[in-house]
Amino acid sequence: MLNNIFDSHCHYDDYKFKSDCEDVIANALNSTVVGMIHAATDLESADFGLKMSEKFKNFYTSVGFHPDPNCIIKADRDYIKKLQNLVKKDKKQGRNKIVAIGEIGLDYHYENYDKVRQIEVFTQQVLLANELGLPVIVHLRDATEDGMNILKQLKPKGVVHCFSGSAETAKEVLAIGMYISFTGALTFKNAKKANKALEVIPIDKLLLETDAPYMAPEPYRGRRCDSTMISEIAKKVAESKGITPQEVLDITTKNVCELFKIKL
Ligand SMILES: [Zn+2]
Repeated sequence: MLNNIFDSHCHYDDYKFKSDCEDVIANALNSTVVGMIHAATDLESADFGLKMSEKFKNFYTSVGFHPDPNCIIKADRDYIKKLQNLVKKDKKQGRNKIVAIGEIGLDYHYENYDKVRQIEVFTQQVLLANELGLPVIVHLRDATEDGMNILKQLKPKGVVHCFSGSAETAKEVLAIGMYISFTGALTFKNAKKANKALEVIPIDKLLLETDAPYMAPEPYRGRRCDSTMISEIAKKVAESKGITPQEVLDITTKNVCELFKIKL
């Protein structure tokens, strides 16, 4: 059985895990999954990540505000200070469970988004990450050009998650020195563009993630996703790279540990 899975991006605070999130996390970490990073979307979500990271040894979290209107609206006047304080407290206690600023970025997908505010909050959080020496976890949806401009200018360490861009954009991300991460969407029949992008990404710049509960890979598409399903994404990557699925998992887990300075 495939093992040594590291889920670099999941959301176990989603309502779909409301009744059993701790069981799902425990089951994954007791089987084929060696670690996971909770992608926080606001302060409440960061709090969930911190709580779980106290409960589970190899559970890590990011802190940050997602561009989704429901999240970004909670970024008040002092939000940067609040994020900064969370990181400082975590470091001071010697816990080191906050491994990134995220999930941050731009999302122009739904109507009525506030582009100016999104750019402002994204930029401020990238600057914070650079100042704290932390990587960023970046979400870009229908906003590649604006997002890439900010990343090229500020050159953070980090990852562009749930990558759906072109091979050209992938090359630009790599040129900044950032990593690229794929979800189960890579296994979908219509994922031609993502698979083309995968071809130009060296395996040592690749991360795997679920974005759970969404994006369950084939053959589980449409079901609630959990971290163990990453093995199916690894199989897809293995085909493209001409190595075994286990080698894909071993390398991508090593990549996560390098980027986020995690010692398993
Ligand atoms: Zn996410």
